[in-house]
Amino acid sequence: MRLADRRVLVTGAASGIGRATAELFAAEGARVALLDRDREGAEAVAAALGPAAAAIACDVADGASVRAAVDEAAGRLGGLDGVVNSAGITIFGAFEEVREADWNLQLAINLTGPFHVCRAAVPHLKAAGGGTIVNIASGAGLRPLGDASAYCTTKAGLIMFGKALAIDLAPAGIRVNAICPGIVDTPMAWGLIDAEPDRQAAIERILDRYVIRRFGKAAEMAAAALFLTSGESGFVTGIALPVDGGRSFH
Ligand code: NAD
Repeated sequence: MRLADRRVLVTGAASGIGRATAELFAAEGARVALLDRDREGAEAVAAALGPAAAAIACDVADGASVRAAVDEAAGRLGGLDGVVNSAGITIFGAFEEVREADWNLQLAINLTGPFHVCRAAVPHLKAAGGGTIVNIASGAGLRPLGDASAYCTTKAGLIMFGKALAIDLAPAGIRVNAICPGIVDTPMAWGLIDAEPDRQAAIERILDRYVIRRFGKAAEMAAAALFLTSGESGFVTGIALPVDGGRSFH
């Protein structure tokens, strides 16, 4: 029970890494609020977790929606000690075909979304006497991928946002860290691979860049989020932790 009595909000908790994080945190004793624009998905995950979990519909790109959802989360959990920002999207494509709307949407969800959530959550974390923020960034924020300039930019921005925030919030006892996953077995990754003309060739091409030659598991990202949320990482702030089978140095 490494998160006994902790109250943690997870965005993007209806699927993939956010879902695995909410599930692991609940198993470790936390009360969790599952925020997602997929209301039914979040409710299904929360129902399986029992009374320690609360599903709240929220579009992280909409500041008013986030403020209401974060306040509701703090109300239903009895306060807030932790945040995990996992909600995110990818829209890949050749640069000259990138639509302005898609550029803006990725920024709004992947970068301004965590801003809205942190902005709304920090007063609650301060009221709790401190806390943790974990941003699910990406290896694509450390080194670029082709045909993904908007996505890479949002994730590099998210890493830097967290580092800057780590400085600002340290006096309040709030630690801010990022996780940089490699390819992870979630609907997001399969959505990208399924859009390729040759699925098997795409998988081989991806795995060729990995030292540990397989997809990561959402539970492995959740385990890193658990470390960065628990007191075991009490002297860790402002880092961007690759959890990527060696991809970032290979
Ligand atoms: P996923 O698609 O399985 O889950 C993403 C969740 O975010 C979904 O439940 C979706 O409904 C929610 N979401 C999307 N936009 C939202 C919004 N505007 N408001 C609220 N919720 C919203 O994806 P995943 O693989 O679990 O991705 C989680 C995070 O990890 C993302 O930020 C992603 O960029 C990052 N990441 C994923 C991979 C990977 O290979 N899967 C690799 C690196 C980084």
